[in-house]
Amino acid sequence: MPEMRRRLAAITAVLALSVTSGAALSPASADPRSTDKAATATGYGGAVSTVDPEASAAAIEVLRKGGNAADAAVAAAATLGVTEPYSAGIGGGGYFVYYDAQSGEVGTIDGRETAPAAMPHDAFIDPATVTPQNPAGSPYRFTPELVTSGVSVGVPGTPATWERALERWGTLGLGEALKPAIKVATRGFVVDRTFRQQTLDNKLRFEAFTSTSKLFLPGGDAPAVGSIFRNHELAATYRLLAERGTDAFYGGALAAEIADAVQSPPKTATTGLPVPAGHLTAADLAAYRVLDQAPSHVTYRGLDVYGMAPSSSGGTTVGEALNILGTFDMAGMPTANALHHYLEASALAFADRGKYVGDPAFVDVPTAALTDELFGKERACEVDPLHAATKPVAPGDVTAYDGACPAAAAAPAEERDTENISTTNLTVADKWGNVAEYTLTIEQTGGSGIVVPGRGFLLNNELTDFSTVYNAGDPNRIDPGKRPRSSMSPTIILKEGKPFLALGSPGGSTIITTVLQAILNRVDRGMSTPQAIAAPRAAQRNTPNVTAEPEFITAYGNQLAPFGHTLVPSGDAFTSAAEIGAATAIEFLPGGALLAAAEPSRRGGGSAMVVTASP
Ligand code: GLU
Repeated sequence: MPEMRRRLAAITAVLALSVTSGAALSPASADPRSTDKAATATGYGGAVSTVDPEASAAAIEVLRKGGNAADAAVAAAATLGVTEPYSAGIGGGGYFVYYDAQSGEVGTIDGRETAPAAMPHDAFIDPATVTPQNPAGSPYRFTPELVTSGVSVGVPGTPATWERALERWGTLGLGEALKPAIKVATRGFVVDRTFRQQTLDNKLRFEAFTSTSKLFLPGGDAPAVGSIFRNHELAATYRLLAERGTDAFYGGALAAEIADAVQSPPKTATTGLPVPAGHLTAADLAAYRVLDQAPSHVTYRGLDVYGMAPSSSGGTTVGEALNILGTFDMAGMPTANALHHYLEASALAFADRGKYVGDPAFVDVPTAALTDELFGKERACEVDPLHAATKPVAPGDVTAYDGACPAAAAAPAEERDTENISTTNLTVADKWGNVAEYTLTIEQTGGSGIVVPGRGFLLNNELTDFSTVYNAGDPNRIDPGKRPRSSMSPTIILKEGKPFLALGSPGGSTIITTVLQAILNRVDRGMSTPQAIAAPRAAQRNTPNVTAEPEFITAYGNQLAPFGHTLVPSGDAFTSAAEIGAATAIEFLPGGALLAAAEPSRRGGGSAMVVTASP
């Protein structure tokens, strides 16, 4: 048993005793999970970084027993489904990127949710608004109608992703990989401040469903900090998958119950939330397939940067911004100038993301052009070294570019950003040199708010990532069977063919900017990987203002004002946190050492661990 795990088990036992003996801890007492977390760990034999010590311990346990990075990544992800159930779980989807040391190749799995076959183009139009005067109707409000609904639930891809990752790269079966998570779900974990706060942030939504309030609001309140939270229903669901494989999720009774929960959400009698019903059927679940895909690829300062190709916009958008910035001396300029270039490159890449990226099974996505160095060079012409462009900036022309500056820019793009701060990310490396980088989500924190009754997990609201109103020219329009465009950006960077840095982040469309900023911090700006992760963040997503963490505004606001950037503090209506992302990373040091880096404070602080401290 790893040391960390022993300490956690000891804490768990002590707290369980105090709870059962009635001496409940005061919510004001120290956050138990935070005292057992290290944000940085350096060592050998394998490493992991996640947002949660239980999940990191699960990965380390698998690595110590001889499992590889794919096995450990699935074990950690399944454990995050227990301890971070509002960010990720089997009711959602994600993207898995893997460096296979034996072949030297990076491969990816697209486990994104799909729209049901019966989803109409006007699924997000409120039927109550269709009148003779307004025959096209008006869209549902994003909040509360769309986010807390059956209509936004996509067919989950996460169970199939785990199965495929193990089949393609792992050594364990799904049953073995789920064991640590089943243990945590059964014995329980210590509720920390983040878990309680996320529950409170979702209270109104969770109260809307009988199944959800029963599980996450026992006695009508969010679980107290320091209490033990057990999820026996999820343990039973995981056991079912362990015994019968994912057929028991994509078929049989569970599939029927998922479809039922979407079509007839288990609403409480008292809720005032409208909760539009959805279209997902058992046949949609039976038809779901993950996709093996080639990664996106760009080179930056001689490094090979591999990411997630569409249906995520992560790989092309991070890649295009790097191609733009590769034309500037980012290491040589003062910090404010470097940040200005970062913000401008990001806005340009987001303009192209908006115009061109959607599910490639439905729209022709110019992935090669978007990641072409020459296209990046041409887009770099739009960066004025001293003045911020008026946003939104126009997209580039992927059909005709030669690296020379175009005579006139196209019309500005329409920009709209409704993505929220949620999701989770993990990074794992093993002693053979394999690396797993995995971002998974149920969309916003708390997903649709709908727990499948008796099954212990929340369903996603991922389909809110589609454009709300159908427009045939929009690459991210709703279509049946389609994957909504994502921002998830799990990234693996190789140096001379060997892993150098693997990283990823949660945070809606700020995932892209967080990953980009961390790469620049590490590669160009002289920061170590832990510093690159910890540094305050800002996100320019082709909108008039730059969204920035308060610490970033304090540190750089005055220096960036002369360039014409207006910084506004991050944070949204759904969460109490004003943070951007909660990233994880592993750097591969010379001599075989591994440097795992997690967040020191965002989302309550993450957990970095290694298999052994010395070689
Ligand atoms: N739905 C988002 C995406 O795929 C992830 C959820 C979030 O982080 O807000 O990009």
